[in-house]
Amino acid sequence: MISCKDVAGEVLRADGPLPFRRRLSLAFHFLLCSGCRDFRRQVGSLGTVVRHLIQREQKLSDQELGQIIERVKGE
Ligand SMILES: [Zn+2]
Repeated sequence: MISCKDVAGEVLRADGPLPFRRRLSLAFHFLLCSGCRDFRRQVGSLGTVVRHLIQREQKLSDQELGQIIERVKGE
């Protein structure tokens, strides 16, 4: 099983979709580990904050922002 540290790294990474097996081990970890579930939720709300900041600074389109947020949030 992957470690909590690995999970945190994957949650924060924003370089595209993960391979299926990696997503599977992440999903399994979230099932068993409430700490990482909380962390993922926090990153989710962080994504909203980041969205507002980026929008204000760079005037990206909603679609571009959506893509960025999805990458921040992961699955
Ligand atoms: Zn964990």
